[in-house]
Amino acid sequence: MDIVLEKKPVLLTASQVWNDCLNIIKSNVSPMTYNTWFVPIKPLELIESKIKIQLPNSYYYEWIDQRYNTLLHKSIKETLGEDGSIEYVIQEETNEPKLDRPINIRIKAPEIRIPVRVNADFKTGLNPKYSFENFIKGSGNELAHAAGLAVSNTPVGSSFNPLFIYGGVGLGKTHLLHAIGNRVVATHPEMRVHYVSTEEFTVKFLESIQNNTVNDFQNFYRNVDVLILDDIQFLIGKEKTQDHFFHTFNSLYNSGKQIILTSDKPPKDLRGLDERLISRFHMGLTADITPPDYETRLVILNKKADEIGLSIQPGILDYIASNITSNIRELEGCLLKLLANVSLTARDMDLPMAKRTVQEISTTRKSHISVDMITKIVCDAMKIDENKVRDKTRKAEIALARQMAMYLSKELTKNSLKNIGLYFGGRDHSTVIHACTTVKSLMESDNRFHDQINAIKLRIETAGV
Ligand code: ADP
Ligand code: MG
Repeated sequence: MDIVLEKKPVLLTASQVWNDCLNIIKSNVSPMTYNTWFVPIKPLELIESKIKIQLPNSYYYEWIDQRYNTLLHKSIKETLGEDGSIEYVIQEETNEPKLDRPINIRIKAPEIRIPVRVNADFKTGLNPKYSFENFIKGSGNELAHAAGLAVSNTPVGSSFNPLFIYGGVGLGKTHLLHAIGNRVVATHPEMRVHYVSTEEFTVKFLESIQNNTVNDFQNFYRNVDVLILDDIQFLIGKEKTQDHFFHTFNSLYNSGKQIILTSDKPPKDLRGLDERLISRFHMGLTADITPPDYETRLVILNKKADEIGLSIQPGILDYIASNITSNIRELEGCLLKLLANVSLTARDMDLPMAKRTVQEISTTRKSHISVDMITKIVCDAMKIDENKVRDKTRKAEIALARQMAMYLSKELTKNSLKNIGLYFGGRDHSTVIHACTTVKSLMESDNRFHDQINAIKLRIETAGV
């Protein structure tokens, strides 16, 4: 009698499928190509026979799409069968690591696999890519790094509760949060560590109201051991979510659970956020992250260049470190762009190529900056009414803010002196020139003013990035 073996649906995760694909890819490309372009890809989820994979940024996408599209599709079809397909997600656009949920699929291959559930009991939301090992300690992040380490070594009853980390975009806040979470999970596997961005927290909360599942939502958050909430400035203007979070915070705090938060500004500057929350944030430790100094930028560049297998002459590294100053994400982006240039054009990297790349990065950065936005940020920093800078008021503090906004508009946008003058109440171009000279000489003579202008500049350059 024949025995008919029924093919059972098996549980597969995106990771398992992706690992199989990687094995196929590995035997078809050089180790360098494999390490540079394929290792950083992250499997996100499996939807029937489609695997979603996450690429670190758009350069990867362009590169892979041009060179390895066929190989990728071949490997997916070998793994998932003829219906196998692939969807690219670019990390810059997703922000959020998705959980690797197992789903039911029928595969054509006869092999039966044991389902492996990643984080079966608890969703950590953590991205294993970010660790303390690959977080470079340097000027700008020393305190935050030390506090992060302290909390991850003593996640119960630390004296830094909550730990509040703040700083501009691309300076490593999210990286540090995941590093802390990953460290706690590794050393205390029994603890429930949960990372969530404030945006996701808000969306999930609102969904829970709609679905009548607020209780589940509340229970989930009140039962974590370490709660990591990223970018809490996004709570501003969301009263209901703030209120809910306030109670969650209290409940966790009172039962001695660790809370770690980040924001783009210090608690006192989170205008529009409930005072009760702000005073809670002050109960623990507040640590800022500021842009790295030149030496730290060089260390970061060297290490990241090494990681992606790019060798760069010291002169070029020096040029990049001197010209990309305010954002670690941009340092990384620059290296990847250079790598893509070198590989695509098969040319050696030289200083002109580096200059063009740095230029491209600063153009992209500046293209979204407008005089309007500069004015808003300057007025916000100087705590004065935006309309007043545009009218004729000669009051000293308003005149100074106007001059600062004019100077920054000249520095950071492509507007002509004439246009800038017109914007600020129909003044002529000589007024703008005068404003620029005044601000420059003040910056030279007054260190505090110098720092203040730079801080405002950083806020402008990183706003909305
Ligand atoms: P933020 O959350 O402050 O906007 P991220 O944590 O997303 O910044 O960092 C942006 C990029 O720069 C990430 O790829 C991160 O890994 C990298 N990065 C930031 N700081 C460091 C650091 N100190 N060492 C290594 N990489 C870093
Ligand atoms: Mg972040």
